[in-house]
Amino acid sequence: MKITIIGTGYVGLVTGACLAELGNNVFCLDVDPRKIDILNSGGIPIHEPGLADIVARNRAAGRLHFSTDVAASVAHGDVQFIAVGTPPDEDGSADLQYVLAAARNIGRHMTGFKVVVDKSTVPVGTADKVRAAIADELAARGSAVRYSVVSNPEFLKEGAAVEDFMRPDRIVIGCDDSPEGEQARGLMRKLYAPFNRNHERTFWMDVRSAEFTKYAANAMLATRISFMNELANLADKVGVDIEAVRHGIGSDPRIGYSFLYAGCGYGGSCFPKDVQALERTAREYDQDLLILRAVEAVNDNQKHVLGKKIVRRFGKDLAGKHFAVWGLAFKPNTDDMREAPSRVLLREMIDAGATAAVYDPVAMAEARRVLELDFADRPEAMERIRFCDNPVDALRDADALAIVTEWKAFRSPDFDQLKSLLKSPVIFDGRNLFEPQVMAETGIEYHGIGRSVHT
Ligand code: NAD
Repeated sequence: MKITIIGTGYVGLVTGACLAELGNNVFCLDVDPRKIDILNSGGIPIHEPGLADIVARNRAAGRLHFSTDVAASVAHGDVQFIAVGTPPDEDGSADLQYVLAAARNIGRHMTGFKVVVDKSTVPVGTADKVRAAIADELAARGSAVRYSVVSNPEFLKEGAAVEDFMRPDRIVIGCDDSPEGEQARGLMRKLYAPFNRNHERTFWMDVRSAEFTKYAANAMLATRISFMNELANLADKVGVDIEAVRHGIGSDPRIGYSFLYAGCGYGGSCFPKDVQALERTAREYDQDLLILRAVEAVNDNQKHVLGKKIVRRFGKDLAGKHFAVWGLAFKPNTDDMREAPSRVLLREMIDAGATAAVYDPVAMAEARRVLELDFADRPEAMERIRFCDNPVDALRDADALAIVTEWKAFRSPDFDQLKSLLKSPVIFDGRNLFEPQVMAETGIEYHGIGRSVHT
């Protein structure tokens, strides 16, 4: 099939590459010429395991094209996926300017039937706005070309995006019942048929329910994290090990183990903004989502938990103190720094007078870019952050190590070496990577999240 992907970011590039891998002919459009240049010269603008190979293979096979040419992209695909960003507006609602710009471009250039698929995470009712934006453009040039707007939210996880796309738990597709909707359903069924070979994974529903499903999923996951973080903070006070509790409740199949890890807060481009956007939608309908308000408040608080533990241990004034920081990306296997808890911690350290030596296996360049923006108000702060080539280098002469991202490479360090390099053997572990008892035996002062019963 001939497919166009509008927006070549984490979702768009993975969607385009994976659909090409299945034999489709895919045209990826982006407004950012830098991204398109990188892709056309054989590079990849983001870090995503397995993606580079798929992109290279399908480019070479002539099934995957990258361009900034809007008219050509609209002409190419029978199915047009909109996969542009939907960042939070000032009031927390999803900013639809990029989605609607993409829709208008489609309306401006289309000459035959198109299925327009909202793959971006968008609030309930957005398909109506997309439909109206296309209709306005068609009316402006007196065209009566038919089209259908479909909702097909994406559930991939950064860091495992290719695997998730190729082996999805479920595919959610919302179509309407018009003749155009029926035609769209047929094309979407054909496009996703390779994913449904062993068993049917597609949930067909109405458009609004599909739009809502994505927010419900992310809100649920964020809720589980904040729930555990709140309990972990209490566990620290009442002498309870949150990891024991996690095992104790996760074994109940009604609860399950996933997303029950206490830590230093969730970040990324999705949970924070999607929780906010759902709250915002509710407010438009005069409903207050009390649980989600708390989920957000708990998470904002949790991003400060490492900073608070450090201040409790070293005092409010950190002038002259130096910290090693392992992990900058908001989660492992990605270079994405959006809403990363490391940014909050570094701001607290620098504001309190400390210096830091930081290391992340893949996010160094992106971290430098983002931190320069974060500290635009005080550029001298960047001189107090040393970017290291490896985790060991970051440890040298630090008063403590803070772990912010649970990269696999951090799980089994050489503790003797770690002790010898740190000025004082203290670890603040924002991801509970280590066992407190083992740390005690090793002679390391250990501060986990919800595990202080052991220290
Ligand atoms: P991203 O910022 O990585 O990519 C968006 C891309 O769209 C950018 O490259 C940008 O230049 C481009 N763009 C903007 N306007 C455009 C236009 N008019 N025409 C062509 N290109 C345009 O964003 P992302 O992380 O891929 O997220 C995209 C959407 O998918 C968001 O709604 C997000 O919530 C959702 N989503 C993201 C993830 C994730 O893990 N990142 C997972 C599921 C859903």
